[in-house]
Amino acid sequence: MSDSQSAFTIANDVRSGRQRARDILEQHLERIDAREADVHAFNLVLRDEARANADAIDAAVAAGDDPGALAGVPIALKDNLCTRGIDTTCSSKILQGWKPPYNATVVDRVHAAGAIALGKTNLDEFAMGSSTENSAFGATRNPVDLSRVPGGSSGGSAAAVAAGFAPLALGSDTGGSIRQPAALCGVVGMKPTYGTVSRYGLVAFASSLDQVGPFARDVRDAALLLETIWGHDPMDSTSIASPLPSLLDGIDKGVAGLRVGIVEELTDVEGIDPEVRAAVGKAAAALEAGGATVDRVSVPSTMYGLDAYYLIAPAEASSNLARYDGVRYGLRGAGDDISVMNANTRNDGFGSEVKRRIMLGTYALSAGYYDAYYGQAQRVRTLIVRDFARAYEHFDVLLSPTSPTIAFEFGSKTTDPLAMYLSDVCTIPTNLAGHCAISVPYGNDSVHQMPIGVQILGRELADALIFRVARALELSRGA
Ligand code: GLN
Repeated sequence: MSDSQSAFTIANDVRSGRQRARDILEQHLERIDAREADVHAFNLVLRDEARANADAIDAAVAAGDDPGALAGVPIALKDNLCTRGIDTTCSSKILQGWKPPYNATVVDRVHAAGAIALGKTNLDEFAMGSSTENSAFGATRNPVDLSRVPGGSSGGSAAAVAAGFAPLALGSDTGGSIRQPAALCGVVGMKPTYGTVSRYGLVAFASSLDQVGPFARDVRDAALLLETIWGHDPMDSTSIASPLPSLLDGIDKGVAGLRVGIVEELTDVEGIDPEVRAAVGKAAAALEAGGATVDRVSVPSTMYGLDAYYLIAPAEASSNLARYDGVRYGLRGAGDDISVMNANTRNDGFGSEVKRRIMLGTYALSAGYYDAYYGQAQRVRTLIVRDFARAYEHFDVLLSPTSPTIAFEFGSKTTDPLAMYLSDVCTIPTNLAGHCAISVPYGNDSVHQMPIGVQILGRELADALIFRVARALELSRGA
């Protein structure tokens, strides 16, 4: 991986003719050939399309055109992002064979900026999970240690970047699905403020929480990718219409004068690995050394984030996934009448975690229980928003672990959904609040040498600020 070039270097070199996009692509395809059989980051590698696109970029440069900010940069796309005419499976049997008639807005944007789509990455089915073990097509392995999970649900995207298959990847984050796998694989992963990145063409899981965001090996590359994909899109009704700031302009300004709060509830959380907690302490000390002031802060209702999430997200999922009826998409089960066909399709097509979420969500929304479960969860969500607002009166950014533990071993949590859900306890509050957060690798644990991620949280539209803090942290560990 050490010979992997950054997206910045590749784009600069391709734009100026120093390197050819086709050569860059072949180097990445070679790495995929060498390790993909072990890692299984991809559901599909788009060799021919990628080669044609890379040649087109080289031809444009030769003709004196500028292909854009991501010229010739290979990028991996989570397989819940629609790609026109190309299988988009969400790692579910129910979508097998479905080819979307349109591209997700983010797919169009990276293409327009000159990036080369390498393939579709594996995920937990419909992005429900924290280990990528819920994929209908087999698990992805952590490139740092193949006996361990890469995290999830965007485990394929995180693994692709960590293995050097691509310098950049796109994922989606509903409760932590970009940040948690980034932490477990030792790469950078960021969830942007809700509404900044278009969800058009992102297969919906929980629409009030879903956001698309970047993976990269360093903070500047992640900022470069987010700058390419974000901004208003009339095709997404939740898309913010006002112009967004530059992420890269002030990224090296440092942290002098910034107030940083360590979130007590997310750092002293039950089951936390002491080495993960220690990494947060080290990160705080590094920021202090850079001129920030650091204090502890209580954001009490974040303790209930997980509980609220596991009512709200399944409730929205149960509604969003109602569309897979055997008529409009992919798989069709047997049956002489439509209701039998519909039931068979869903029974055969969905895996057990997706079924569990649909049942939980349907229950939470049912008459008689709606107020006690869904309504109560929404009230908790409001309390989380208020508690964060109070914390941000005193602090510019907040700090916590990304995940309470390092990457765990395969199978260690598959029989205990609650243990699996706890993996996202530190990331979920950000989604419930609609805020932004980024995970930065910050050292390894001493026993297994697995990466640890530290999370920087910001209020809505503080995306540029958290990138700046992330960059300072990255430099402090000598990246
Ligand atoms: N792991 C969480 C879940 O299973 C979050 C998933 C996500 O962010 N897509 O719901």
